[in-house]
Amino acid sequence: MNLDLSNLKEPGSSKRIQERIKIPAFELHSQEIETPYLFDLDLNIINTNGSFVLTGQITGVLSLICSRCLEKFEHEIQVEIEEELLKEELENLERVDLIGILQENILLNLPIKILCSKDCKGLCTICGQNLNEKECGCEREAIDPRLAILKDFYKKS
Ligand SMILES: [Zn+2]
Ligand SMILES: [Zn+2]
Repeated sequence: MNLDLSNLKEPGSSKRIQERIKIPAFELHSQEIETPYLFDLDLNIINTNGSFVLTGQITGVLSLICSRCLEKFEHEIQVEIEEELLKEELENLERVDLIGILQENILLNLPIKILCSKDCKGLCTICGQNLNEKECGCEREAIDPRLAILKDFYKKS
């Protein structure tokens, strides 16, 4: 979906977009972020002298993969948008890449570590069992000093 700003010629003029939109899947650290549902966009655009200022919010659901247990889960987002597009940097006022802007704003608001829940237990380091589903009975305690370090790391993060 491209944004047409060519009809916002006068400084001070503005328009509001309230729409359900499709955002194509995109990538974060080579992980695919899926977008199974439509998003609700509420955006106000105002022409200031040298730029267009976009403010508003986008809400919806992303399908992500937990970095600890590797399960897919749905993650609700509500992202505030505040973006200034400098006129001199806009090549074509009739075709401003709104989707790209929205994707970028969504990415910036995702946590650095993507987890299905903050107390996700992850996978057993020995047998690979998803420990959120059941305990596998492996003796993971104090087997390998490297694992101990990893445990400390998880505690801190
Ligand atoms: Zn998880
Ligand atoms: Zn196990």
